[in-house]
Amino acid sequence: MKNQNTASSENCSTDHSPARSSRSKSNIQILQTEQNAFLQLSGAFFCSIDFEGNILSISQNWCERLGHKKEDIEKHSFLKQVHSDDRDRWQKEFQKRLTGNPTKNCILRLLCHDQSVLWFNLKSLTDPKSHLLYILATDITQEKQAQSLSTKPDPQLALDHLREGVFISSAQGNLLHILYINSGFDRLTGYSFNEVKGQPYTLLAGDKTDSETLDRIASAIQKKEHFSTEVCLYRKDHSSFWSHISFTPVWNAQGQVSQFISVFEDISERKLTIEALRENNQSLNEALEALKEIKKDVIQRERLHALGQMASGIAHDFNNLLAPILGFSELLIGTPQCLSNSDKALNYLNKIKDSAQNAAAVVGRLREFYRAENEDEKTTLLELPQLIEDTLRLTEYHWHNQAEARGVTIRISKDIQPSPPILGNGADLKQALSNIILNGVDAMPDGGEITIRSFLNGSWNCIEISDSGVGMIEKTQELCMEPFFTTKGTAGTGLGLSVVFGIIQRHKGRIEINSTPGKGTKITINLPSHQTNEEKISPSSFASEIDSLRVMIVDDEVLLLEVVSEYLMSQGHQAKQFADPHKALEDIYKNPYDLVITDRAMPGMTGDHLAKSIKEYLPEMPIIMLTGFGDIMKQTGDIPRNVDYLLSKPASFQLLKDTISKVMNQPKAVP
Ligand code: ADP
Ligand code: MG
Repeated sequence: MKNQNTASSENCSTDHSPARSSRSKSNIQILQTEQNAFLQLSGAFFCSIDFEGNILSISQNWCERLGHKKEDIEKHSFLKQVHSDDRDRWQKEFQKRLTGNPTKNCILRLLCHDQSVLWFNLKSLTDPKSHLLYILATDITQEKQAQSLSTKPDPQLALDHLREGVFISSAQGNLLHILYINSGFDRLTGYSFNEVKGQPYTLLAGDKTDSETLDRIASAIQKKEHFSTEVCLYRKDHSSFWSHISFTPVWNAQGQVSQFISVFEDISERKLTIEALRENNQSLNEALEALKEIKKDVIQRERLHALGQMASGIAHDFNNLLAPILGFSELLIGTPQCLSNSDKALNYLNKIKDSAQNAAAVVGRLREFYRAENEDEKTTLLELPQLIEDTLRLTEYHWHNQAEARGVTIRISKDIQPSPPILGNGADLKQALSNIILNGVDAMPDGGEITIRSFLNGSWNCIEISDSGVGMIEKTQELCMEPFFTTKGTAGTGLGLSVVFGIIQRHKGRIEINSTPGKGTKITINLPSHQTNEEKISPSSFASEIDSLRVMIVDDEVLLLEVVSEYLMSQGHQAKQFADPHKALEDIYKNPYDLVITDRAMPGMTGDHLAKSIKEYLPEMPIIMLTGFGDIMKQTGDIPRNVDYLLSKPASFQLLKDTISKVMNQPKAVP
């Protein structure tokens, strides 16, 4: 230290001789090195700042601590290194120091290069002569951190930071009187503590506050139970808000509840959002329902349209078939010599019978378009070749008769390969195929060819329907399946292909359209095959010969009674006719029968009622119902409980014979 003092005094001397000068220079260096060494040993950081606030020099260790390079800091403003929250304070401190106020500790946060923050305690010395401020700093970050960890929590301060409103109240009976509120309470309600002090919490209630909810809160308070609910509360300015509020009893050391702490938040926005969501949801559901209705309407409209088209064809065929019936019967009635020639008469009668049978089949076609409301989901095993044949028959009037009447020819060519059955709705699929064929017919105003191919493609049954018609341009191909899209003006509904699409989708199938303008259109439908091991029961397996039977026939149509009895007797059975079902019922109590055949709609008593009365008395009596409603009843599943078999009028004698043997051979019910 002595040396240092000596050196220091020498440094201040005025000896300027070269020898002295070089010695004093080295002394100054030694002195500086020593000072640096001591400062480093002290672990302190130091720097000098000019009166403008710029750093003149800074110790290396401080730079390193802050992660800066010396050259990035020196000549720059010290203020830049100070944390933004502490800058104001530092500027005030700095001014004080410049005016020579006594040195005071200053605790500041400085910014590191990586933007982290360190705490320093700064001491400074002002040198007014050289306009410099010397700063000595110690890093107190660790102490600060330890301090913040060990700080005693301040619940009140913490509660004031909550977004929610909090109040503590004294519990007296079922009333709560406010003792404390946090800042959140003030913010949410607009009331200051002085305004609510000692008031019941119900000062927050108003007209829209549900009184039942208030009762439930009061009851929970009385029972000293926790309770939370949603309730409408009022602010000081009388505006209301939805709130979620909880009341929690505070138990003291004596096990008593004298206070409740309540927390509430404003959930108006959440409520509004939920409400809006609920409304949205409801309108979506309504839209969905409306869409379902529209879909039903669309299908129904297209079905009626198709039915109309079919009906015109059927009326035409039916008239054609009636003509020979009328003609030959007139011949038979009008020319008695025909009757005496039994071969000729038999020939005419056979023709009448053939035509009548065909007419019955034609009427049956209408039935294929009949579908009950709830039949949407009804599926059966369907053979594609049969489905295609039925469809061709249904549409024959259009591609054959109508085309011929226009003087054009539409040829149909088929390549139908065997394939496993599909599970589906026959009426729907026939409608889909019909729509495609009818579009084909429309596309060939000058005639042409419709080709139908069906084959197995992996596990898919593939049906291709091509026409050599006008084809579709790209835009039409894109839009053709959309409901109501048509290029046919008022002649089209624009629903045909959209209905086809819906039907194929319901069958979990796929549809593809390929069309070339001027060349034609090919529509490919793929339907999943149904693999089954079920054995097919052929109807003829029932048709074993049976003994002579005693048959009761009940029908209000005398002609039918007659013809059926004649037939039965020709088969060796005994037949007794009843035009009145009451008489039939009386007779069955008196005379033995093996079988009853009855009509359904009869004046005085229905066939259903007759069957029921017979089965009550004779549970094992086989009953066949022969009715004009047979087909529709079968379709709708409306088969009377006491009837063993349902036959549609007109039934051929062969069918009647098969049915009788089937009914007579069926296993008897165990009583
Ligand atoms: P519509 O037959 O009532 O017009 P569709 O839905 O059956 O309604 O058909 C929509 C449109 O698709 C038709 O108007 C027609 O332009 C086009 N289209 C459908 N099938 C064919 C086809 N085989 N050839 C040419 N165009 C067709
Ligand atoms: Mg169409």
